[in-house]
Amino acid sequence: MVNYQEILDAIYEKLQKRVDKGTVASYIPELADVPKEKFGIYLNRINGDDYFVGDWEEPFSIQSISKVLSFALAFSKLKNQVFRRLDVEPSGNPFNHLSLLEMENGIPRNPFINSGAIVIADMLISLLDDPKNDFLAFVRGITNDDTIQYNKVVAASEAETGYGNYAAANLLKSFGNLENEVERVLDFYFHQCSIEMNCQQLSNAFYLFANRGKCMQNTTHLTINQVKRINAIMLTCGFYDEAGEFAFEVGLPGKSGVGGGIVALLPNEFTLSCWSPGLNEKGNSYLGMLALEEFTTQTNLSIF
Ligand code: GLN
Repeated sequence: MVNYQEILDAIYEKLQKRVDKGTVASYIPELADVPKEKFGIYLNRINGDDYFVGDWEEPFSIQSISKVLSFALAFSKLKNQVFRRLDVEPSGNPFNHLSLLEMENGIPRNPFINSGAIVIADMLISLLDDPKNDFLAFVRGITNDDTIQYNKVVAASEAETGYGNYAAANLLKSFGNLENEVERVLDFYFHQCSIEMNCQQLSNAFYLFANRGKCMQNTTHLTINQVKRINAIMLTCGFYDEAGEFAFEVGLPGKSGVGGGIVALLPNEFTLSCWSPGLNEKGNSYLGMLALEEFTTQTNLSIF
């Protein structure tokens, strides 16, 4: 029997001592002041057991992790039509990279780089009656937690400084790949990124991707085939130009955000979330990557 709690405790003890904890994202001013010492881990097994350590109860900005949830909602509603407006190839570039988008005529490489998530935001605005409220209701529903909220201050902070995302949205619009107005699409996108969750909520939200499309309440939100595809895109594109490294070191589908969160999963086994706000040079949580690598190495649990 694997002693999960002992493994998480040991990983926490070891990594918490590190002097180098990476650099907190400062391009969104509101995120710059989050203390670097924060570090939490939450493991949610499909059989119902859970294990946790550190600051797992403290909410943080999920940022790009929200791109998996917005994509899941658009995919569940539009089915394969979503792939008319974006691709599913790794970009090999940072999350905010633009030149590929221009070269490839406004078709984003995948839904997890910023331009791809902006196209998904546009689809959801066209699809939903009350986009921001309906998306939040979806996130609350799959997590079974009505306390989950947007952080309006973080959304406003990003809107003030999000010049790269304005550039991406304008480029998409110029190629005819946005139906709605740039301001409206980015308002939705900045809000989805500002959602706050703690490690437990994040593990619960991603339970359906490890459980063949069924959330913890056993409601089916996605088909088995859709879940396969979403997990495949997480594996190949979830960490931008570090996706290869993450597959190599950790060996699980997952997604990171510049708030320092990472969630990863092993189908039919578990979801595992880490939060440590210091990032490496690729914009992924520095301690989070190390923690996940230690976990899969010590437990021998990976998709490979
Ligand atoms: N809101 C952030 C941005 O658009 C999300 C980036 C991320 O988490 N990698 O820049």
